[in-house]
Amino acid sequence: MNNPDFEIKPLVFPVSSRETELTVRPKFAHAKKVLDSVDSIKILPVHSPVAFNGYLDNWDDEPEAEFIRLEDGTLQIKLTCPVEDEYCVWMKSAGNGRTDATATVFVYALEADLYKMKPLKGDFHLHSTGSDGREAPEFVAAACRCVGMDFMALTDHGNYEPSLKVMKFLQNFDTEFRAFPGEEVHVKDNMVHLVNFGGRASVNDYFREDEERFKREEAPYETELAAELPPDTRFQVGASEWAFDKIREFGGIAIFSHPFWRPDRWAHNYIGMDTIDALMSRCKFDAVEVPGGFCRHTNEGNQLMRCKYEEYSIKKGSPIPVVGVSDSHYHPVLTGEDPFPFMWNYTVVLAEDSSFEAIADAIRDGRSTGVSTYKDDAPQVIGKFRICKYVYFLLREYFPQHDKRCREEGDRMIAFLGR
Ligand SMILES: [Zn+2]
Ligand SMILES: [Zn+2]
Repeated sequence: MNNPDFEIKPLVFPVSSRETELTVRPKFAHAKKVLDSVDSIKILPVHSPVAFNGYLDNWDDEPEAEFIRLEDGTLQIKLTCPVEDEYCVWMKSAGNGRTDATATVFVYALEADLYKMKPLKGDFHLHSTGSDGREAPEFVAAACRCVGMDFMALTDHGNYEPSLKVMKFLQNFDTEFRAFPGEEVHVKDNMVHLVNFGGRASVNDYFREDEERFKREEAPYETELAAELPPDTRFQVGASEWAFDKIREFGGIAIFSHPFWRPDRWAHNYIGMDTIDALMSRCKFDAVEVPGGFCRHTNEGNQLMRCKYEEYSIKKGSPIPVVGVSDSHYHPVLTGEDPFPFMWNYTVVLAEDSSFEAIADAIRDGRSTGVSTYKDDAPQVIGKFRICKYVYFLLREYFPQHDKRCREEGDRMIAFLGR
């Protein structure tokens, strides 16, 4: 991780065969002393695109990077990043051994398509008192900002209205934090849970308005399915795919939720393997939740889901769009210990901006990752290789500072509610 004693600008570059400039400014006197001793700099791609034989001490033949030293100790370094990768800026002092760096700095070079994207952290499967959650919708929103979310959607069971309350609440603040409509969709008798993220209308309301209409609309979905599937499976898959299409018709992103929930004592949330396999192989949703949940025990289901996700991505020939969500029902930002369980699973997207359309595009295009960090464990990032590689860098070098700024704003929102 980059040394917080230095200010590094910029952290992310466009890939180029031309030189660009990196500045490393010492923030403190002791940091200036370190940079004052630097007399040579080399640049090393962290995941070298080409093999090289030998160890780094055979690196002496590599050209040194040019740099100038300003009066305040800032180093202005000429840097060339010809391929997309993380780069280690290796700053050495004479007498400090051949290989030991006096200081290192990490930056990232991106191809133009990703360079123009903004990293955004989001959670769009959350519950409030609008269903079986513990706190009011507005409090859940403030709590999401406290843990660094850039966007969210409240998705109460069968209830779309609370998500609109959150959007109204955020109008009280001059903030970049965005909230979108949402709901967890429950078609009667279908055990499969789905999320309507961002839809302009409620699929639950549409279903409840006229069940006969639903039956008429859903029947062709079942007809299309193989006759060898048992009737219950055909209904679960047909009803889910009807809902996926309805969510999209309303402009939302259709998400297949927590496929691997274990049956509880009421056998709630019990989905047969044949339903999971049919939904995954047909892949009619926009994205699937892979890491999810706010309890330690959900990790096992998440790992099983990861295996399924990888198997079906291989069969499909490309990674299936993935998201991570907390599905949390309580948000103890005032009383619980850090890190809060509801920030263990979430999504990072690389989107053109923070509009719903840009975020939806990012999810559909596979510029979306599911992130899982149980307590202090190292994060696991799930998605396309190229996107995951960059997101790991962001989790290390960008999000910690970002999260601190969000926390301050989230605290102000909590104070506003508690006034
Ligand atoms: Zn659910
Ligand atoms: Zn839920």
